[in-house]
Amino acid sequence: MPDRYDVLVAGAGPAGLAAAQTAAAHGARVGLIDAQPRPGGQVWRHDVRREAPRAAREAFGKLRDVDVLASHSVVAVESSGLRVETPQGGRLISYGSLILATGARELLLPFSGWTLPGVTGAGGLQALAKQGWPVAGKRVVIAGSGPLLLAAADTLRKHGARVLGIYEQAPAAVVHAFARQLRHWPARAVQAIGLRLRLAGVPYRLGSFVRRAHGGDGVQRVDIETPTGTQALDCDLLAVGYGLVPNTELAQLLGCAMDYLGPHPHVSVDRLLRTSVGGVYAAGEAGGIGGLAVARLEGAMAGHVATGHSVAAHALLPQRDRERRFGALLSRHFALDPRLHALAEDSTLICRCEDVTLGELGGFTNARAAKLATRCGMGACQGRICGTALAELGRFPRDGARPPIFPARLATLAGLTTLPSDDAYRGS
Ligand SMILES: Cc1cc2nc3c(=O)[nH]c(=O)nc-3n(C[C@H](O)[C@H](O)[C@H](O)COP(=O)(O)OP(=O)(O)OC[C@H]3O[C@@H](n4cnc5c(N)ncnc54)[C@H](O)[C@@H]3O)c2cc1C
Repeated sequence: MPDRYDVLVAGAGPAGLAAAQTAAAHGARVGLIDAQPRPGGQVWRHDVRREAPRAAREAFGKLRDVDVLASHSVVAVESSGLRVETPQGGRLISYGSLILATGARELLLPFSGWTLPGVTGAGGLQALAKQGWPVAGKRVVIAGSGPLLLAAADTLRKHGARVLGIYEQAPAAVVHAFARQLRHWPARAVQAIGLRLRLAGVPYRLGSFVRRAHGGDGVQRVDIETPTGTQALDCDLLAVGYGLVPNTELAQLLGCAMDYLGPHPHVSVDRLLRTSVGGVYAAGEAGGIGGLAVARLEGAMAGHVATGHSVAAHALLPQRDRERRFGALLSRHFALDPRLHALAEDSTLICRCEDVTLGELGGFTNARAAKLATRCGMGACQGRICGTALAELGRFPRDGARPPIFPARLATLAGLTTLPSDDAYRGS
């Protein structure tokens, strides 16, 4: 495989796949990098039991002229390219243009019992099931916010789980107002109706959230706040996710400007998906949560622009803008209830990599000071979970990303030719 591409795409979800195939169709030499062993990203993650959806199969089939660099994690940025960790060791890959399609992750909020075995994110449990983790016959409670709860429930049922209920924090009046808006998006309405029909018989409770999980070696019971009081439910698995936040660490290492939706950054782009750094573009959820349709359209746009075909990108803008409006509608209607910010107690672990409780973070006013004194955010996830949760709770804003953004071998880091500034290392 070459070490230089005309267009390098980071992230092989729907946005990255569309970007790579579009750029390749214009004759560019394209590399498509992903940390996962197979392309597909989150929504098209490989399912050991089920065939991929038709759109995914079509997208995979169009990669003939693309170098797919699977199990490649970008861990750092150098002046001459991206430092990548692979199963065989570190590599430096350089590019003419770079398209960031790094997607999003779940927002997890701490509550008492959230670190018990058997408690996961909603999309997290969906991903585990797709990868073969046995859920058949397990009693599952799904909670949190947004349409991902329904998608996760659907997948888990297909894998044989007994979904006891879906608990959505948004109040009933707001969710019903959202449902009425779906008439303006007929394809989404059909999708939503299909999901609800497949989930017939599974209670969907609105204005409800998990206050506490109980158990010993694993979760056994959950306390759920509902509009009519607290309900206790016995279960084997609890899956809780409060929506998505963009993965911006790579863009931050590159020095790309950020925009903010509440406390969470997304990559700032212009109408043609150009970031503030020359030759670097961002497509899909890295540039703000928008869903599958936005990811595919923006991926194609970025592939056109990165290869000098801006007119073709312009032609997709009206459709992209319309899909982005749907994303904005979702985030307005599934805004989080402030009571969720007060679920964690002083004894609740916040940083599960380094065993730091909320109480231990009490005296600090910024993330860096807290990190230096407690190691909060210095574990394997590099603050992706705890740093994002603390920002959501209004404790500390996220501090910038520092290399390595994913775990890497010492030999890979030793191969870095452009060392990050002292400042970059001082905080990590
Ligand atoms: C856990 C989860 C489950 C979801 N399930 C559904 C669902 O069932 N239905 C649905 O409609 N939507 C789902 N979504 C929403 C979904 O993310 C979007 O609809 C869509 O997949 C976004 O596409 P994307 O290409 O922007 O990003 P993604 O699909 O998130 O793809 C981003 C890719 O970038 C890779 N990446 C990121 N950083 C690096 C790096 N430094 N080095 C190498 N690779 C990197 C990741 O491994 C990932 O494969 C889910 C989201 C999450 C987080």
